[in-house]
Order: sequence, then structure tokens, then C-alpha cells
Amino acid sequence: MHLREDPHHRGGDPMRRIVNARVVTPAGIRLGGAVFDERGIIAVEDAPSDRLAPRPEGAETIDAEGAWLVPGGIDPHVHFGGFGDIPIADDFWTGSCGALAGGTTTVMDFCEPARGEDARAVIARRMADASCSAVDYAFHFVLSEQYEDLLADLSCIEDEAGIRDYKLFTVYDNTTLGLDDVRSIFSRLAGDLRRTFLIHAEDAELVACLQDELGDSVDMQYLARTRPDTAEFREVEALHDLVAETGARVCIAHSTCAETVALLDGPLPCGEFLLETCPHYLAFTEDALAGDRGARSTMVPPLRTIADQAALWEAILSGKLSILSTDHCPYHARYKDDATYRTVPCGVDGVQWRMIYAYSEGVVKRGLSMERFVDLTSAAAARFYGMWPRKGCIAPGSDADLVLIDPVGTTTLGMGVSASAIDYSIYEGMELSGRIARVFKGGREVYDGTAVHAEPGSGSFLRR
Ligand SMILES: [Zn+2]
Repeated sequence: MHLREDPHHRGGDPMRRIVNARVVTPAGIRLGGAVFDERGIIAVEDAPSDRLAPRPEGAETIDAEGAWLVPGGIDPHVHFGGFGDIPIADDFWTGSCGALAGGTTTVMDFCEPARGEDARAVIARRMADASCSAVDYAFHFVLSEQYEDLLADLSCIEDEAGIRDYKLFTVYDNTTLGLDDVRSIFSRLAGDLRRTFLIHAEDAELVACLQDELGDSVDMQYLARTRPDTAEFREVEALHDLVAETGARVCIAHSTCAETVALLDGPLPCGEFLLETCPHYLAFTEDALAGDRGARSTMVPPLRTIADQAALWEAILSGKLSILSTDHCPYHARYKDDATYRTVPCGVDGVQWRMIYAYSEGVVKRGLSMERFVDLTSAAAARFYGMWPRKGCIAPGSDADLVLIDPVGTTTLGMGVSASAIDYSIYEGMELSGRIARVFKGGREVYDGTAVHAEPGSGSFLRR
């Protein structure tokens, strides 16, 4: 961390003033900038630098030269260590370095109880894991098959720990819940509107049936065959009905297909029903599963077709699909190669690429507005998960989590610029328009366009 002495400030990093930026605020885009320090954003200024009075005294001035100034990214679905026998490549420290280099200053990860582990124990374990984080963080608490035991101690999760976001799986080892379980959980918890549910939705029976029918194989295309879009859509449709029945606030994790997106048009008498998707579903198709390297592009649900990609993009451009997460869950190549489609650890990288990918492929290539870009990368998640306007917002009083995006620069994704602990990237060699030029978290400069300058443990837990 670079700490500069400043006689006009009480210590730590100086007060800063960004000028000549195109600032994306909730009230629209302004040509101007922002004044901020470690306590937060002090002012949003609305004029080019030559018309501003020379205040505030002592502030370090940064000329943005026309760059975009946007809120620090919120990636509401990452896995920095935490579960399974095979180690995830990134822990909270390396993962947060990747996040900061990509403009993401807040993440949401998971407290997933091991079999028999009680709520207090899993929360303590994951808080310890996160103690080295350099990004701010919150947790989704996984209600596994032992959810009755976990819900019996709800005050431990909510009042003591400050966690009110829940993750449910309708398919996964040890955590599979049937729709009756989900209905029971929604009925009991939906009344408190601070609570949210993030749901991994696939039809477990259909997947198991197809796996039995096709057997195991080293051909990763079987992953797509045994987890078809129908398995996702059927389950999501049933969940949509449960939202209408119970009024729960639900986000469907990693949505992939056209049929799922079409549910956004359905009527909803109560509750909230959002979809999240990830850059890999926008960037790649199931063709990536073919051949010797297919295992490196495995995640669940699997990659889909060009038509599904088009439907996801259309929903993003129209504003219907509002949250872009990464489900960042990378494994080193040695754990991926030589596996079968049923033994391969599923998950890929993304936390460092999400913001610039959305800027290049959304804003530059497809005409996504910058207001929608901010919704997609921070504001919609901030609102849904109760962090607004502290996060996802450039306004006086908000945290000084700020990103300058240089529209003239370019970025080539991959190991050459990776700041995390991955040893391969599915995005290797992808050339994008724009560049993450500078990143500030909590008023401190944490990325200068080349290197991350942050200390382990500088991120804070966000109580909900
Ligand atoms: Zn996930």
C-alpha cells in the first residue's frame, strides 16, 4: 500500500479530487468528477476542471482526461476457497487482488456448512477465511439438507452474524432441496423483506436420469447433454411460481438459456424475481466443451448455444436481466485435465474480467448505456442485497469505491495480466476495448492500472 503523507489530512491517504471525468451517477451522466477520502465521497462535481474553484485545499487532483468514473464493481457470486476436496485456485487474498485489478471492490461469497457443521461454526470458519480479504464482502448462507437444524438457530445467522442472504441448491451433492423444501423455507422467511434467496436451479431428477442413461465419459460434451436447458428452465419456472405464491425475493443464480430469460416477462403478483448471468455464458458456447481442452471450460449449468447467448444479451440490453456475477470458481488445470464429465471440478475464472468484459462487449460493441452498465456491474446487486446507496452509487456519503475506465485503451485478458492465483484462463487472449485505469476502495488507491496496492485484511465484512 502506498501511503503518502499529507499535511492537510488527518493521516492515511490524502483527500482526492477527480476532474474531467464522465461520472455515472444515479441522476445521470455528468462531466465533472468527485471529491473523496477514506470516509467516503464528499462531493460530486458537475463542471470541467477549468471552471472549478481551486478547492478543497490540499486535495490531490487526478485529471481523468475524459475517462468514465463508475462505482466500484459488486460481484455478488464468487467462491474464494471454501468447499469441496479439490482446492479452488483463489482464496480471499488472491481472489480479491484479481477483483481489485478488474475494478470490483465488493464481493459476495458463501457460508456452506459441511455435513453436521452448525451455523456458528461455519460462519466462524468463513469469517476466518475472509480475514485476509482486500475487498469488502458479504456472505450468502447455504441452507443445505440440514436446513431445519440451521433455521432453528436463525438469530445466530441474522442477529449475531449479520447475514440475511440465503443460497439454496435444487441440485448438488449434500445440498439438494426439493420444491417442497423450498416452499417451506420461503413461507417461513419471505416475510422479512431484508432477506434474499440466491438459487441454483436445475431439475435434479432429470439430470440424474440422463447421467444414468449416458454413463460416464471423458468427453465433456456429455456435461451439456446431461444438464440440458430444459433441466434449468423447468426448475426456474417452478421457482417463479413459488415466488408468486410466497412473496420471496429471489435471484436465480447463473441463468443460461432463452427459456429462463422468457420468464422475466411473466406476471408477478408479489415478491421479486431477478436473474443473474455470468460473462462466460455471454462469451462462449458449448462448442468449447469439445476436444482435449474441453474440461477447462466446465461449469454448471454448462455453456449453451449461440441462440441462448443472443437471448441473454437481449435481456441485458433491454434492462430485464439486471445482475452480472462471475460465479468465479477457478481450479488449476491439473485438476481439470484427465477428469471425466462427472468427476471434473466445475467452475471457471472471471472476477478480474467481468467489468471490462461488460464495458467492451456491452457498451462499446452492443450500445449498452453506461447507466445500464452500472446497474449490471454494481447498482442492481447493491439494491437487491441491501447495500444501496452505500455501494453501487456515486453520491455524497457513499463509500469511495470508484473506478476509472479509460475508453481509449485496450485490454488483452489472460495470464499476462492476471492478478489472482489462477494458472489458466478461459478468456486467454481475448482482446477487449477499454481499460481499467485506476481503482479506489474506501478512498485509497488500490490499483494504478498496472499493479494492485492493497493490504491483506483491508476489506470489511458488510453486515446485513
Ligand atoms: Zn457458484
